[in-house]
Amino acid sequence: MAGIRLGVLGGTFDPVHIGHLALAEQALEQLELERVLWVPSGDPWRKADRAVTPAEHRAAMVRLAIEGHASYELSLLEIERSGPSYSIETLAELLRVEPDRELFLLLGLDALEDLPNWREPARLIELATLAVAARGGRQPAPDELDRLVPGLGGRVVWLEMPHIDVSATELRRLAAEGADLRDRTPASVEAYIREHRLYRRD
Ligand code: ATP
Repeated sequence: MAGIRLGVLGGTFDPVHIGHLALAEQALEQLELERVLWVPSGDPWRKADRAVTPAEHRAAMVRLAIEGHASYELSLLEIERSGPSYSIETLAELLRVEPDRELFLLLGLDALEDLPNWREPARLIELATLAVAARGGRQPAPDELDRLVPGLGGRVVWLEMPHIDVSATELRRLAAEGADLRDRTPASVEAYIREHRLYRRD
C-alpha cells in the first residue's frame, strides 16, 4: 500500500501569516495530501543576519494559526533538535519513523532559489518532491532549475495560487509601529503579538 502523502511546511514563521496558510491550503488540495506538518525552525541559520523571535513564541503563533484545522499539525522536531535547523535532517527523520511516507516539501520561490545554499540539496530532492508557490515571481524552466541543483527540474511541482503579497518582514514592520495586522494573519495571532508585545521597539 502506498504511504501517506505528507506535506512539510518549514519556516521561521516570525510571524506566521496568510501567505503560509494559503500555501498549505493549496498544497493540501492540489496535491491531495493527507496532512501538512508545520515545522518552525529552531535555529534558522539562513536568517543569521537578524534577531529571530524565540522559538516558543513562533511555535505558539503557528499553533494558534492552525487551530481547528484537522489536516494541519505542528511539529516541534526542529525546535527540539539542537544545532542549525537543516531541512534534510527533518525529512530524513520523518522517513526514518515512517519509511513509506511520500514527502512534499512546500516552499515559496524565494526559498527554492536559495536551495543550492542548503545542506545536501542533492539528497534533499531525493527524499522529497518540492511543491512551490511562485509568490508572484516567474516560474523558472526545468533546465534553469537543473543549473541550481542537478535534477531539480524534475522534482518540482508548481502550485497554482494567487500571489499573496504578504511577508513576515512586512508584519514585523507593521507590528513595530503598532499598526493593524488584520487581514494579514489570523486574529488569534494578532492578539498574541499584541499580548506579548512582539516586534515592538519600545
Ligand atoms: P521573512 O519575510 O521573515 O523572510 P517569510 O514571510 O518569507 O519571512 P518564512 O517563515 O521565511 O516567511 O517562510 C516559510 C515558507 O513560506 C518559505 O518557503 C516561503 O517562501 C513561504 N512563503 C512565505 N510567504 C509566502 C507567501 N506570501 N506566499 C507563498 N509562500 C510564502
